[in-house]
Amino acid sequence: MTQKRVAIAGSSGSIGVQTIDVVLAEPDKYVVSALAVGSSADIVIQQARQLRPELVVVANDECRVQVAQALPGVTVTGTLSDVVDVADVVINGVVGFAGLSVTLETLRSGKTLGLANKESLIAAGPLVQPLRSTPGAQLVPVDSEHCALHQCLRSSFDAGAEVARLVLTASGGPFRGRSAESLQSVTVDEALNHPTWKMGPKITIDSSTLMNKGLEVIEAHELYGTSYDNIDVVVHPQSVVHSMVEFTDGSTIAQLSMPDMRLPIGYALGYPQRISTPFGRIDWNTLSRLDFEAPDRNTFRCLDLAYAAGRLGGTAPAALSAANEVIVDAFLDGRMKWSAIAQHLENVLNRFIATTPTSVDDVLAADAEGRALAQEELSR
Ligand code: MG
Repeated sequence: MTQKRVAIAGSSGSIGVQTIDVVLAEPDKYVVSALAVGSSADIVIQQARQLRPELVVVANDECRVQVAQALPGVTVTGTLSDVVDVADVVINGVVGFAGLSVTLETLRSGKTLGLANKESLIAAGPLVQPLRSTPGAQLVPVDSEHCALHQCLRSSFDAGAEVARLVLTASGGPFRGRSAESLQSVTVDEALNHPTWKMGPKITIDSSTLMNKGLEVIEAHELYGTSYDNIDVVVHPQSVVHSMVEFTDGSTIAQLSMPDMRLPIGYALGYPQRISTPFGRIDWNTLSRLDFEAPDRNTFRCLDLAYAAGRLGGTAPAALSAANEVIVDAFLDGRMKWSAIAQHLENVLNRFIATTPTSVDDVLAADAEGRALAQEELSR
C-alpha cells in the first residue's frame, strides 16, 4: 500500500506539531512529504532531520539560508504554497493571511485540504468558495466544532434538504454566568484565566467575549452553506460534545470525544476513511455529566456582532475580524476596558461599507480598513 503524502504548512505551530504526532502514530499509512514555516528555523531543521521530507519551505529569507545549510540534500524553497506539489493532503496550520495562499493552491490543485487557518474562510470565504468545486478538491475543517459538524452531516442522505439547524457548542469562557454589571471592571488577568483550555492570549480573550464562537459561526456558514437563521450556539462547559446537527425529523446527531485536536487532524488526514488510532476516546466510567445552557447574548454581545457581519457578507467578516484583533490588543495592553470591546466593534461595523471581494487585495484592503476604523474608535 502506498502511503498518503502529508504536507504540513505551519509545522512549528500547535496544529503542525500535533499533525506530526498523528502521522507518526500510523507510519505505514502516512508520510510527511513537506514542512513549511515562516521563520522557525531551528524547529523545522529538527523536524526535517527526524521526518526526512522531500521539501522544506521557509518564508523568511535569512532563516531559509540557515535551514538550507543545515539540511544538505533537501530541497528548500520560500513560497508556502510550494508544499502542495508534493502532497496528497495538506494540513494548513499557518496563522494569519500567509495561510490563504496555501488554502487557495491546495483547492486549485484538486487535493484534500485540512484547514486550520482562520483567515481563509472568515476573511476570504468568497475567494475560497469557487475553488471548492475543483475536481478532487476536498475541504475538511481542522477545528473541533466544524469537524464535528462535518461528521454529523455525513449521516444525512441529503444534507441540503434534511438539515434543520447546526448547533455549535461553546465552552463559555472564563466569564460564563457573569452579569454585564459584574464584568464592568474585570482585569486582563481575569479574562486570561480560561477554565478548561490553555491557549494564546488573543484567542483566550475571544473566548471570553464569545467572539471566537461568532467567528466560528461564520466559518460554519461558509463551510456548509447553512443560513445564519439556522445556526445556533449552545454553551457546553465540558467541551465533550463538539457540535451537533438537528435534522428535519427532530433527530439531533452529535459528535463526542474528549478535547484532543489530534482527532480532527486525523479525521482530515484519513478522510474519507477513519484512522485507526483513537485520540480523545471517552472513558464513560469517569464522564459524569454534560451540561448545556443558552448563551447570554446581552452580556456577550460579540456573538451577535459576528452574526451581523456574517449576514452583511462580502468583506464585512474580514473587517470585523481585523478590528477585533486591534481592539483585543488594546485591551491586553491595558488601554481599554473589557466591557467596551463589543461597543467599539459595533461602531466599526456600523461605519464599514461591505463590498464583494474579487481578489486577495480586496480582502487585504478590508482588513486594513477594519484596523483603521478600530484605531479611530480607540482614539476617540
Ligand atoms: Mg473551535
